[in-house]
Amino acid sequence: MAKVKITDLTLRDAHQSLLATRMRTRDMLPILEQLDSVGFYSLEVWGGATFDSCIRYLNEDPWERIRSIKRGLENTPTQMLLRGQNLVGYKHYPDDIVEKFVVLAAKNGVDIFRIFDAMNDLRNMELSIRVAKREGAHVQGAISYTTSPVHTLDTFAEMAVKLEELECDSICIKDMAGIITPKDAYDLIKRLKKTVSIPIDLHSHCTSGMALMSYQAACDAGVDILDCVFSPLSQGTSFPPVESVVAALRGTGCDTGLDLEALTEITPYFTEIRKKYASLLNPVSERVDVNVLRYQIPGGMLSNLMSQLKEQGALDKFEEVLKETPKVRKDMGYPPLVTPTSQVVGTQAVMNVLTGERYKVIPNEVKEYVKGMYGRIPGEIDEDLKKKILGDDEPITVRPADLLEPQLTFFAKEAETMGLMKSEEDLLTYAIFPAIAVKFLRGEIEEEKLEAKPEPSALSDSAVPTEFLVEIDGDEFEVKVVPTGFVELGGEHKKKRPRAGVEGAIASSMQGIILKISVREGDELSEGDVVAVIEAMKMENEIVAPYSGTVEEIFVSEGDTVSAGDIIMIVK
Ligand code: MN
Repeated sequence: MAKVKITDLTLRDAHQSLLATRMRTRDMLPILEQLDSVGFYSLEVWGGATFDSCIRYLNEDPWERIRSIKRGLENTPTQMLLRGQNLVGYKHYPDDIVEKFVVLAAKNGVDIFRIFDAMNDLRNMELSIRVAKREGAHVQGAISYTTSPVHTLDTFAEMAVKLEELECDSICIKDMAGIITPKDAYDLIKRLKKTVSIPIDLHSHCTSGMALMSYQAACDAGVDILDCVFSPLSQGTSFPPVESVVAALRGTGCDTGLDLEALTEITPYFTEIRKKYASLLNPVSERVDVNVLRYQIPGGMLSNLMSQLKEQGALDKFEEVLKETPKVRKDMGYPPLVTPTSQVVGTQAVMNVLTGERYKVIPNEVKEYVKGMYGRIPGEIDEDLKKKILGDDEPITVRPADLLEPQLTFFAKEAETMGLMKSEEDLLTYAIFPAIAVKFLRGEIEEEKLEAKPEPSALSDSAVPTEFLVEIDGDEFEVKVVPTGFVELGGEHKKKRPRAGVEGAIASSMQGIILKISVREGDELSEGDVVAVIEAMKMENEIVAPYSGTVEEIFVSEGDTVSAGDIIMIVK
């Protein structure tokens, strides 16, 4: 058995998993020389959510981060996580942006590109793979791991063969939810080792508590590379600790050859980092999450579902939503649950439970997904459901990015006009996150402070408290106070927005912001007409007329916040 190599993820996925992706470059540079001397296969230091986090929260130039890390390493290759056609963002970018980004990433210091697609649709990965290869980089093709009746050893092996045909240099089994069991890891790696000749890497989060056992099984099956992190930032939604893995494999056929002493000399550095960023550590993400075992819902998605329900004042529906999620995933043809498909499936599940009727409200993202705009759907979607979601719209048959026009020249002109463009790298930052990049490139982003909670004195004069802690017999309860009537200072009582129970009332089924009112008082409506668009849970949702009639009175304006049950208008 060959030696097992280790990729260290402490400077990327570890803090993305545990510290909200907030580690600063200045906290990475001082330890590079020591990390470089260990003998890691590679250091994952860039990509994923770090690019976004740099410009949104840290006032750091992500390009400067990769350049300075690269300068600090003499022996160890740098590695990045690239979301295929989504690059480091959350949507498909046109080919000209993808190509330029990959070229610049390589030029600024990325040696190994780990490239994946949430749907495992190779059409979304091909271009970035080809460009990275052309730039002389090592390309690791990643398989988004999931389990379902349509994901089998055969389908994964087939994908591995295609990745090898695309000249990938290695393959990563990307178990983002931490659901791979030791037996499945063993079977899959055995099969891939038989099918392709390039090295196999296993990337498994500890969320379900099984990762260390799966790593052993992977070793037994002949895995080539294991993904680990330093122990102070290990476990929970993060990864197996590198010190333990190295010690456990010592003297076996899978000995890593790494020096445990050298590793443990680095450990205290990350203990201090952990202390420094302690305010960001969520105790929940450090524990084993049994819901992952029950429903295969990844950790990040769980906390998302919880905050969506909290926003809607419906935390009591949590169990119901957990049960609904796998059903929606089945309806949607079993996509792997990872950004952005986890959001698509999760929000539909929340809607199905909150409205009390499945697919009564369908977010735009779900329509796009069913239309094929995220990529090829792994399984089948029931024809009736497809009809209900798409109406007369037809699914696309081409690669989603084929529908996108080149945009780089347009962004270049815009950036120039605004005086934002100092380098090609700046242009890419702008092209990928236009909204936030303007502020960043103008120097208007302030570095977020590392504090647990804002002090009351930090709130502005116009801030009004709406959430309170009430203590009753020593127990604390969180309550939210929602106003239902207003008094104009020095004026009259304003019209009170009626709540459910009024004849002809169309009510909001969720808490959110009214983005658009599509009708006026006196308008004639047919059943199914869109009357308003509400933004809830980061998605746009249409409210439709449940019957034909005339709009008698409208109670809300665009920009208003409404709660579930608030009446939007009366239609008679
Ligand atoms: Mn990961």
